Amino acid sequence: MADCIFCKIADKDIPSKTVYEDDEIIAFHDLEPQAPVHVLIIPKKHIASLDDLADDDGELIAHLMLKIKEIAKDLNLEKGYRLVNNCGEDGLQTVKHLHFHLLGKRKMTWPPG
Ligand code: AMP
Ligand code: ZN
Repeated sequence: MADCIFCKIADKDIPSKTVYEDDEIIAFHDLEPQAPVHVLIIPKKHIASLDDLADDDGELIAHLMLKIKEIAKDLNLEKGYRLVNNCGEDGLQTVKHLHFHLLGKRKMTWPPG
């Protein structure tokens, strides 16, 4: 999608520090890490948010979710991690292309801010 920064990352029009990629998804380091490990996992297909998932996106999302544990293992997050999705205005979503934050290598706090 034109003017979508994460579509541009998926298309390699904008560089990223990629940690995993296949035909459907790409995972890359966040520009402003909020933890020692902070990776974003996105579908390459433009989906604006979790709220915009269609019924036939199920296979794609299952694939993305199942890859997260492999990515976490590759990043040595054996002590655990947090997976975050910010959705919409109240969720403070700033980039309107579905993404999951994988945060690790520090003790998280609860409740989130
Ligand atoms: P959210 O607030 O959930 O929409 O998160 C968007 C995330 O994208 C933020 O953590 C940003 O730091 C990150 N971000 C924005 N632009 C880039 C980029 N070009 N490369 C990597 N991460 C980015
Ligand atoms: Zn996009």
